[in-house]
Amino acid sequence: MPLDNVVLIKTDDLFIPGLVHQVFNKYKRNNGILLTKGERSQLFSELSALLGDGLLQRALHILDEWNFITYYTSDRYRSIVELTSKRNLAHVVRVVPGVNYCKCRYFQRFVLQLQEAGEQDHRKEKLSSNQVSFTCEHILAQCLNQLLHPEPRTQILTLDQFRYFHIDIYED
Ligand SMILES: [Zn+2]
Repeated sequence: MPLDNVVLIKTDDLFIPGLVHQVFNKYKRNNGILLTKGERSQLFSELSALLGDGLLQRALHILDEWNFITYYTSDRYRSIVELTSKRNLAHVVRVVPGVNYCKCRYFQRFVLQLQEAGEQDHRKEKLSSNQVSFTCEHILAQCLNQLLHPEPRTQILTLDQFRYFHIDIYED
């Protein structure tokens, strides 16, 4: 079993992360056992109740429309998951399993609550409305993919390649 299956989402003392973590744990199966259709829809409705319909739907869309590959270091201790849109191969997002961080605009804006440079004052009111999200569709899709497809496509990278991707994830 790959190490990154152990922690799907880091848990804090906050309610939402703890509850999301519980939901994923509840549906985690070992030895490649797949969830039944009933379990799947139960999982989706529990996540939707916690994270909202919109976020879950965007994550499910990614599961349908994007390819996933897991890159490992040769010792398999570290991994990065790369998500690539099947329609636009230039659209690539990389995330670290178990780490709730993504470079995407949605994450920066609604999870980290960062304002974009050059954002006009008159738009502030609308944007600072209480839309706060726990995570983005890429992270959620990655967690779901890990849960629903226990044998992902994998590739071993050299340490240099791996470092390059890793730095890129956190670089603006
Ligand atoms: Zn994202």
